[in-house]
Amino acid sequence: MGELLNRIEQKAEAVRTALAEAVGAHHSVIYANSLGAEAMVLTDIIWTQVPQIEIFSIDTGRLHQETYDLMEKLQWRYRRTLRLVHPDATALAKLTAERGVNGFYHSLDARLECCQIRKIEPFKRAIAGFGAWVTGVRREQSAARALAQPIEWDAQHGLYKVSPLLDWSEAEIWQYIRTRKLPYNVLHDRQFPSIGCEPCTRAIQPGESRRAGRWWWEQTDSRECGLHPRARPVAAEA
Ligand code: SF4
Repeated sequence: MGELLNRIEQKAEAVRTALAEAVGAHHSVIYANSLGAEAMVLTDIIWTQVPQIEIFSIDTGRLHQETYDLMEKLQWRYRRTLRLVHPDATALAKLTAERGVNGFYHSLDARLECCQIRKIEPFKRAIAGFGAWVTGVRREQSAARALAQPIEWDAQHGLYKVSPLLDWSEAEIWQYIRTRKLPYNVLHDRQFPSIGCEPCTRAIQPGESRRAGRWWWEQTDSRECGLHPRARPVAAEA
């Protein structure tokens, strides 16, 4: 256990260094906080050690109550306000008028349009004008993420993308959270390894992949929403 803790402390220090270097190199750096387990590690390091980095989360309007509860816990712990970015109200009204309030279940096009309006457009709006954005992706999460680099040019969004947790294991993430008694989404204790919007996320069964609970009614190759694109028709994921 002592060896694990030492390794995590070394990795946490490397994250702090990478983030500080990103601030030095790119000046304006923003973290798109997904509110998942990795986000608890990055939020802790940023808000306690690299506060020059701005943090925001996207409130799609369809999150779990447990996720809103987590936002409150974070704000209380760090005595900071988590900036929330919301979908454009006009676009959202048009979407629900045309597709219905739960239209995302009816077709892949409708689902992607909902993700575009509720997640991708707010994300693009939030990072516009920054020199780099920070993400909590880890290599072991997917084949596409295994190819990611710690710093890479994000041509889709026109700024650098900094991924300081690439080589962290899931066990290391959780050890960091538990050692520091950080808040986390209680849905993780109910077999929700990956948490997005409430209507589009379910618990997984033993043996299923960690993303099996996201858009579970779709084919595997379409289950993304666009922030970390891979070979598929449309953009991003959260
Ligand atoms: S995850 Fe579901 S509810 Fe959330 S933006 Fe995408 S389609 Fe809409």
